[in-house]
Amino acid sequence: MTESLPRRAVLLRDHVREAAAELRPLGLELDRDPTAVDRRLDLAAVGLMRRCTIPMEYLSSPLRIGPYTYDMSSCLEHTITIEELSYGDAGFMLACPGPLMSGVAVGALGDDKQRHAYYERLSGPEPVWTFFGLTEPDKGSAAAELLTELTSDGDGFRLSGAKRYVGNAAFAQLGVVFCRRAPGPLGIEAVLVDTSDPGYRAELIPTVGMRGARISAMTLDGVRVEREQILGYDTLKPSRRGLVGAIRTLQRFRPVLAGTALGLTRAVLDHVRARRPTLAGDARHRLEDIQDRLDAARRHNYTIAAAIDAGTVRADRIAGIKTRAAELAETVTLAAADLLGPGALLDDPWLEKVYRDARAFEFMEGTGHIQRLAVFQGVAKGTFLQ
Ligand SMILES: Cc1cc2nc3c(=O)[nH]c(=O)nc-3n(C[C@H](O)[C@H](O)[C@H](O)COP(=O)(O)OP(=O)(O)OC[C@H]3O[C@@H](n4cnc5c(N)ncnc54)[C@H](O)[C@@H]3O)c2cc1C
Repeated sequence: MTESLPRRAVLLRDHVREAAAELRPLGLELDRDPTAVDRRLDLAAVGLMRRCTIPMEYLSSPLRIGPYTYDMSSCLEHTITIEELSYGDAGFMLACPGPLMSGVAVGALGDDKQRHAYYERLSGPEPVWTFFGLTEPDKGSAAAELLTELTSDGDGFRLSGAKRYVGNAAFAQLGVVFCRRAPGPLGIEAVLVDTSDPGYRAELIPTVGMRGARISAMTLDGVRVEREQILGYDTLKPSRRGLVGAIRTLQRFRPVLAGTALGLTRAVLDHVRARRPTLAGDARHRLEDIQDRLDAARRHNYTIAAAIDAGTVRADRIAGIKTRAAELAETVTLAAADLLGPGALLDDPWLEKVYRDARAFEFMEGTGHIQRLAVFQGVAKGTFLQ
């Protein structure tokens, strides 16, 4: 099904697949202890997450496979990498140091100086965890109504408010906080925040699944912000900053997140087949049906990611594939628990973990309802099926 991928993407996929093979036991460890990743920073997969998301001019040894060099500026290659790592363990991949979503926001909004300072720090000898702080306790899906305030304070600003469900925020050194400088959607700014600054606090939120995402509750109590920390302040009009960056980041990242859900789906399918190679009749048809839907979703996701690389961002299709991928991850884990028998969730720790992990995709980067609204808008405008 992936023959249509360019050769450099196929070589990347095979390379990442090898690195992902060792992630399953570590994913289980991380499920029990959110700091377990700190002890395994030597892993090839951790190196890949770093090398694959930092622009190559900042790396002393960028990823080279055969004649090709990679830095994940391509959405397709980023999607393939994350899908393969998630086949190993989605939670472990999310717990790794590196730019993740904050890097896309800095790329979308930051000026040259801001980008340079950000990547200089990310490419230094010490591992740096980052976060992308958008969701608030009372403003999750309604992100354009966010309340975190950026107020003037002499020659700078102060940041006050609260964020919730922000991945890695309790462990990060650096991140992007979306906040309000003026009323309305165009009054939103994106600010780079150093977590060692006075007034920043974050703590881990206990979760049922996807514990590797290490989602955290954040309090910002008058954190001092210099003008240079506001992304694009000197180069972009207010109407092209803040919210535009959040939307562009989420749209660029949704195929990547869909890849995460599809990687987990594929892992569970293979797990069931390995455990029950002789499944027949309805049970076999059920797996074949999921496999067909998975193949179609992967192809579609690669097409959407390749279109983004070519400059075509279709919000309705991006929303559609994110929803479909999240649904498939739920479907396959329910089917696995069913097909492997009543004791499977007790006897099989890996299955029990991915069964819990799969529920997170519904919420990550926008819930299914919100994505369906975007699909509906495409259908209403007549663009969705074009
Ligand atoms: C594992 C994980 C990692 C995450 N990482 C991050 C992160 O790094 N950074 C970050 O900022 N956030 C992160 N999030 C938060 C995520 O983006 C939010 O959970 C999501 O946007 C939904 O917000 P909420 O949880 O407040 O739900 P709500 O918005 O309160 O929604 C509750 C329910 O109401 C429905 N609903 C809401 N509005 C509408 C509407 N207009 N029409 C129809 N139905 C509606 C929703 O579909 C949902 O079923 C993460 C979440 C998870 C689970």
